[in-house]
Amino acid sequence: MDNFHQLIKGFQNFKQKYFLKEREYFESLERAQNPKTMVVACCDSRVDPALLLHCKPGDLFVIRNVAALVPPSSMAGTPSAVMAAIEYGVKHLNIEHIVILGHSNCGGIHGLMEPESIQNETYIQDWVNIAAPALDRLQELTGDEPHDVRERHCEEGAVLVSLDNLLSYPWISTKVEEGTLKLHALYYDLAAGDLYRYSPESEDFLKMRLKG
Ligand SMILES: [Zn+2]
Repeated sequence: MDNFHQLIKGFQNFKQKYFLKEREYFESLERAQNPKTMVVACCDSRVDPALLLHCKPGDLFVIRNVAALVPPSSMAGTPSAVMAAIEYGVKHLNIEHIVILGHSNCGGIHGLMEPESIQNETYIQDWVNIAAPALDRLQELTGDEPHDVRERHCEEGAVLVSLDNLLSYPWISTKVEEGTLKLHALYYDLAAGDLYRYSPESEDFLKMRLKG
């Protein structure tokens, strides 16, 4: 996929193979969307939630930003594209699941861990600092671990920071307490093609066993 012309050909392919072949399904989407799940994912081109989770148009309400972060309620007061989308999903669409999808080799988390690599990029600096509490999680390590292990620990920690931040909004925490909204933390290892899910019981991300 190296030029714009290929994107147009890609759309032609979508129209012929999906849109025109599944008319009934796409007609049902004309009237309204009714997704049950919202995914907060990274902008990274290798981590497309709909593709990874094999979803159709209408299945997922997707928010993408650098490092898949959710700002805490203490940052409220300025316009926020992320929070506007989450508010719409939770209050208007009544979605039932919010998934935070982190991933390996994340450039945003790399910038958080090595701020000198983004020293002239103030928007990125300000944004990835939302995940700064994930740096505290590195103190659980001895310090002798290789860099990729430390990065992974921080990437997983950033997912948990976003999960905590979601709960800082009363209109989210109330629904979670009522049981009408569930929060999930996933981590995609893009080198191995493996998906991990956070287990509150074991306080760790566990590899998901896939059938077949
Ligand atoms: Zn990323």
